[in-house]
Amino acid sequence: MEFREVYCNNCKKILGRFNSKFYTEEKIEGLLKIEYSIHVKKGHQIFVRKFEKI
Ligand SMILES: [Zn+2]
Repeated sequence: MEFREVYCNNCKKILGRFNSKFYTEEKIEGLLKIEYSIHVKKGHQIFVRKFEKI
């Protein structure tokens, strides 16, 4: 199963993991603005990376 992991480079932590099946790139982009706006407003670097899980 493929997941997308949202990681904050400034906080050095994973903010969330989303199943690629249900969360498209656009959906996650939208989530970033709402759910993680605190990080975004602080100017934190947020990465979305893919990872596989069996
Ligand atoms: Zn952060």
